[in-house]
Amino acid sequence: MSASVAASVPSMQCFIILGLPIIKEGDDIASLVKSLFDFQDGDVLCLASTIVAKSEGRFRELEGYHPTDRAVEIARNVGKDPRFVQAVLDESTEVLLDQPFLLVVTRFGHVGVNAGIDQSNVGDARILLLPEDPGRSAKRLRTELGKDCAVIITDTCGRPFRAGVAGVAIGWAGIAALRDWRGVQDLHGKALEITLEAIVDEIAAAANLLMGEAGDGTPAVVFRGLKYPSGGGDSVFMAKDKDVIRPRLKR
Ligand code: GDP
Ligand code: MN
Ligand code: MN
Repeated sequence: MSASVAASVPSMQCFIILGLPIIKEGDDIASLVKSLFDFQDGDVLCLASTIVAKSEGRFRELEGYHPTDRAVEIARNVGKDPRFVQAVLDESTEVLLDQPFLLVVTRFGHVGVNAGIDQSNVGDARILLLPEDPGRSAKRLRTELGKDCAVIITDTCGRPFRAGVAGVAIGWAGIAALRDWRGVQDLHGKALEITLEAIVDEIAAAANLLMGEAGDGTPAVVFRGLKYPSGGGDSVFMAKDKDVIRPRLKR
């Protein structure tokens, strides 16, 4: 055994669930994953938002959108179909950037380019909206799993100030979004003052790494052995009145 292995401890296990079909509207994702994986209490199930959205019938035809003048103007800035821009606006409560890409706040509080509407892995000319309320979806899926597990719904997103995309959590249940380290002592006995750790995003990023982005067909990942704070009701979506960046994006 090498020295580095001898000096390590096992921490968590990661499982990629294989064998999920192309998901259609009405598919029962909880039953599907349960038929392929033997869940234990404490497991964390991560699901790509794409399959949750598909099962919830969030497909839309571009023909169904009738762009307003504003959508037409934004479409020129961002180089997109005005009907697509209208779909994004319909899913949004606020536009933060309307060029060179469309960055919005979704109805459920997540900030994302194009409101997370996907045109890849959809399979035809339709677009796929994010789940209407991913937190509610996560809660339902957790109940349907029938175990004391956590469920995190992920999406691949760009990040400000950093190149490249990564997975983030857009809905979760059975797990607190944030781990509060405040008051915990550091290595030298000094109490931490402000550290809130966005654990659902950290887990989502790891899940996204295992899911892949293209034709892998692996939208479900399970983590076992991870210690996480239970509960919920908290959020990684920055409250508008606490956000110092958002107002500066407004022209
Ligand atoms: P997003 O990050 O939620 O937007 O989802 P992606 O489109 O990046 O897909 C994430 C993973 O799920 C990839 O491995 C895809 O191949 C896979 N995936 C997407 N849709 C389906 C589906 O309907 N069935 C299966 N089995 N895999 C899918
Ligand atoms: Mn996506
Ligand atoms: Mn992705």
